[in-house]
Amino acid sequence: MIRLDKFLCDMQIGSRSEVKAFIKKGTVTVNGLIIKNPDFKLNEDKDIVSYMGKTLAYETFCYYMLNKPAGVVTATKDLNDKTVMDLMAGVAGKNLFPVGRLDKDTEGLLLITNDGELAHSLLSPVKHIDKKYYVECRGKIGDYDIARLESGVDIGDKKPACPARVEIISISDGKYIMELTITEGRFHQVKRMIAAIDGEVTYLKRLSMGTLVLDETLQCGEYRRLSEEEINSLRRN
Ligand code: URA
Repeated sequence: MIRLDKFLCDMQIGSRSEVKAFIKKGTVTVNGLIIKNPDFKLNEDKDIVSYMGKTLAYETFCYYMLNKPAGVVTATKDLNDKTVMDLMAGVAGKNLFPVGRLDKDTEGLLLITNDGELAHSLLSPVKHIDKKYYVECRGKIGDYDIARLESGVDIGDKKPACPARVEIISISDGKYIMELTITEGRFHQVKRMIAAIDGEVTYLKRLSMGTLVLDETLQCGEYRRLSEEEINSLRRN
C-alpha cells in the first residue's frame, strides 16, 4: 500500500506539495472516484489512478529490498525449498527476480527487481561493486590471515580473490566477528575466503551492495520498495 501523494510523486507528477494541491483540487481519481485526501492509501499493484483524466501506469520497473532469512533459496522457483520469491507473493506477477545469489543459510540484503539492465550492471565482474557482509566465524585467525584476505587470498580458483576490506568487530574464545567487503560475487565466496585462512563461517549476513544498505527496520523475511533516491544512486554505482 502506498499514499496517493507518494504515488503521484513517484510518477513524477510534481513535488509532494504540488501533488497535494492537485489532489485537493479534485484532479485525481482512484478507481474512478475523485479522492481529495492526499493520505489516501491505495494498492499500487491493483488500483487504477488517473490524473486529469489520464490513467497512470505505475512504473515499468520495480525495485525492492528483501531482508532474506536463512532457510530460503535465492531462486524464482524451486521444487524442494521455499524461495525468496515465495516471500514476495504480495507483489507477484511483475517478472521480478533476485539480483545475485545468497546461500540458503545466508541472511540479509537482496535486491529484487525486474530491471535486467540494472541487475546486469550491478553483477558485472568488471564493475567491482562492493558487497559488505557481517561475518561470524570460528578459527584461529591472526594478523597474517587478515592480511591475506586484504591482499587477495587464494580460494582455489584460477585467480585469487580480489583484495577485501576487513573490519574486526570482536574476538573472543576463537569466535571472530568482522565486516568483510568484497568486490566480486563468486560462488560461496565469503565462506571460501574464510576457509582459506582455516576458519569456518558460522553466520553470514549481507549488509550492503553498492550504495544500497540493508534497512535494519526490516525483520527477516520482510521487504520494502526502494526509494527514488536509493534507485537513482544504485543506477549511478
Ligand atoms: N559468500 C558466501 O559464501 N555466501 C553467500 O551467501 C554470499 C557470499
